Amino acid sequence: MKEQPLTLPPGKRFRLKDFDPAYTGTFGNKKDAAQELQDNLERLHSLQEMLYAQGKHALLIVLQAMDTGGKDGVIEHVMGAFNPQGVRVASFKAPTEEELAHDFLWRVHAAVPRRGMIGIFNRSHYEDVLVVRVRKLAPEEVWQKRYDHINAFERLLADSGVTIVKFYLHISKAEQKERLLERQRTPEKHWKFSPGDLEERTRWDEYMAAFEDALTRCNQDYAPWYVIPADRKWYRNLVVSRILIETMEKLDLAYPEPPPDLEKYTIPD
Ligand code: ATP
Ligand code: MG
Repeated sequence: MKEQPLTLPPGKRFRLKDFDPAYTGTFGNKKDAAQELQDNLERLHSLQEMLYAQGKHALLIVLQAMDTGGKDGVIEHVMGAFNPQGVRVASFKAPTEEELAHDFLWRVHAAVPRRGMIGIFNRSHYEDVLVVRVRKLAPEEVWQKRYDHINAFERLLADSGVTIVKFYLHISKAEQKERLLERQRTPEKHWKFSPGDLEERTRWDEYMAAFEDALTRCNQDYAPWYVIPADRKWYRNLVVSRILIETMEKLDLAYPEPPPDLEKYTIPD
């Protein structure tokens, strides 16, 4: 099987049809991946501890997907490896009246992690070129300018010590149907069933076009987009964990220097 790329060089057009959502690389099933996932989660735990202790870098993880795409699952099963003390999840819903009275990045900027912290965006400023575009919540002149605004904003963050990594969890339309059916027939999942998701589903192709533009126009060395094959939850988790390790290992993470003459201290009884 041909190896499927996870990202593209900046400037290259993303065509989501070329990315198979059911791709699982060389792995056949969940069991094959279990050991690597477990090792990766331990590694992520250590890397995060160093990031926190060092207090030099912030890490911003952006999650976008169609409904049922698995944002919540990734947060639980991959980001669950981190110490909660060093992590903040921000979930972006439809803007409030106050948020709408500001520029679209106002609420987003306020949620960016400080140095030493990991910030997870469950949805993000990309909604402002996705749902806003598809649902025509703002005129085209408004959302068209946002790709440039987003690039400038992410550049500012990158220049200020924030490492940005963006995941598009790519599921197929057929898999979404399965997951919606599952939510409908499982009592413990009823709370996740929103009739509004069915309406969004009818605009699938428009969303794919909007995602392709967002990924293509806002894919930068300093803030890359990754397309995660997400029909198989176990493979999705594995790939996300790998990319996070790769991203964090590129930082010069280290524990801070101990106090001078550390060994000369005696611990009082
Ligand atoms: P789940 O996937 O678990 O249902 P969710 O992220 O879909 O969680 P919801 O409260 O169901 O959470 O949905 C949030 C809604 O807010 C989404 O439909 C999203 O498109 C919408 N939203 C987020 N940001 C914006 C925005 N800037 N403008 C308009 N709508 C937005
Ligand atoms: Mg929802």
